[in-house]
Formats: sequence, structure tokens, C-alpha cells
Amino acid sequence: MDWFDALPKVELHVHLEGAIPLPFLWTLIQRNGGDAEVPSLAALEQRFHYRDFHHFLRTWVWKNRFLRTLDDLSDVSEAVARSFAEQHIVYVEAHCSPIDVRDHGINIADAIRAYRRGLVRVPGITVGLIVDLVRNYGADEAERTLDAVLRVRDQGVIGIGLGGDELHYPAQDFAAVFARARSAGLHVTAHAGEGAGPPSIRHALTDLAVSRIGHGVRAIEDPTLVQELAERGIPLEVCPTSNLRTGIVRSFAEHPISRLRSQGVVVTVNSDDPAMFGCSLAGEFRRLVAEHHWSAQDVRATILAAVEASWLPTDQRESLRRSVIGDPAWLRTPTP
Ligand SMILES: [Zn+2]
Repeated sequence: MDWFDALPKVELHVHLEGAIPLPFLWTLIQRNGGDAEVPSLAALEQRFHYRDFHHFLRTWVWKNRFLRTLDDLSDVSEAVARSFAEQHIVYVEAHCSPIDVRDHGINIADAIRAYRRGLVRVPGITVGLIVDLVRNYGADEAERTLDAVLRVRDQGVIGIGLGGDELHYPAQDFAAVFARARSAGLHVTAHAGEGAGPPSIRHALTDLAVSRIGHGVRAIEDPTLVQELAERGIPLEVCPTSNLRTGIVRSFAEHPISRLRSQGVVVTVNSDDPAMFGCSLAGEFRRLVAEHHWSAQDVRATILAAVEASWLPTDQRESLRRSVIGDPAWLRTPTP
């Protein structure tokens, strides 16, 4: 275990369905009768290479057909939480997309309860749930998803998100459902500035009134927007390897995270869909040190920025901050 593995880490942008360890997903496929398209674990791994962002979205939908029962969802979230704990990720705000598994006859409220049942089987890690309304289903479905969310808020649902096809399903369509979520006291974020450019980020800010932006990296194309994000202190949930693997950026070295940070934007580092992108939170920091020349202090400041950007109540956020700062891993010599 090197310095990066040992650090206490905070993850604000990860999808439960994209974090299923591949050996566990393989077990699940076998449990549900197997699939001719993936005769081996190696064949399954091969499916997780993408030509572009839309190919990735299609692969996401394909993979979800293997999540068929409430027990599957509980077992998946347990496996993911165990993987977080093993990586010394101490606090997580995780997206889940219950609407994506509705085709198997699972209703959204039951799906959220099932996710929580799996998460609580793993001691020592706190996982808040952000329910993804998923742009592709449209605003009416998003309203129905929110209805279900509001019935099961006691399952540790802290907010809503908006993933999916950003280019063809703009934020403006979801203004009303986001307003209703905010007035019910839920936190809100949206993927923006990933599959579409700066106007999509502006709409997430103005029409959805999000308090964080998922990705947001294409803000770099608009200096005025970068300045606004910096001045307003809107944190970006940045996922560098995800952007590389879906073709949003050409290389890790060219990723705009360091330029955004140097211009005063609050950036956090996240893994998005680690099992589908072959990455990890420790690995993201390792590459930022190796390829963007981040210092140990940059890593520490970014992890603490994630603590500050979290949606924990003030007292719990302060307690998390104290526990992260006091972790003995910081006393070790960095080993980039
Ligand atoms: Zn995401």
C-alpha cells in the first residue's frame, strides 16, 4: 500500500452501477444465467473500451441489464462499499440510477431501499445517495423519480443529480423538477460541461441552481465562465480518467483540471465509474502527481476541498475534516 492508497480519501462523484468490481459483475452475470456476448471475464473487460462518449453511454445501458433483482442491487452496493473501504475512501456521495433498472419490474423506491440495505452491511464507511434523474428519460419521468425519492429520503438520500445525454436533453427541461427537489431540501448537482460545452454549465447554474457541477471541465473553453465559477466558489466534481476514456480530452497530461485550479476554481478529484474506466481514486491522484506535477500539498488541499464541498451537515463535515486531517497516513513520506 503506497502513500496514495493509504491517504484518507473523499469521493463526491461515483456511480454505484459504474463501480461494480468486474469480478463481482461477472459473478452476477453467471448468477442470472450467463450471457453469450460475454463468455469470460476477459470478454467482459473488453466490453469496457469506448470509441466515444455515446458509445460509453450505450455500454452503460447494456451493463445495467444484468442488475435484475432487488437482491442484485443490495449485493452490488455492498460489493462497491467494500471496495471503497478497502481503498481507504472514508466518505462517499454516490450516484445511483434506479430508473435504469426499472425495466426489470423494480420500482424506484424499492430499488433505493435495496441499495441502502447493501451499503449498511459494510461498517466504517458513510455513503450518501444522490439519485440520478437521468436526462434521457425526460422531465416527466424525472418528476416521477423525484416522487419516489421523496418517499424514501430516510434511506440516506441527500440529493439528486442529472447524468446521461447532456447534448440532446438540456438542463432547461429539468428546471421545474430541480426547483421542487430544492424546495424539499435536497441538494442538487448535474453533469454538465462533459458531453456539451460551456452553455450547458451555464444552464445548470441558472436553470437548475446546482451547488456543484459534475465534471464541468469544458468551462475551460470560456474564460468568463471560469471566472464566474471561481468567484462563486462552485465546486467541480472532476473525473480525469473518465474524461480521457470517453474522449472528452485527448490525453491525461492535457486535462484542464490543473488550469482550472490555478485560475481559482474549486476542483475535487473523483473516479466516476472506476470499474468501467479501469481507474481508482488513489490512481487519479497518482497520475496528477506524475503527469501534472501536483505536490503532496496539492493532493491534501484537494481532498480537504472535497470535504468542504460535501453535503454533510456542518457538524458532521467538521468531524470528517478533523478525522481526515488527523489520519496518520499524512505522516508518511509521499511515494509518487
Ligand atoms: Zn458521472
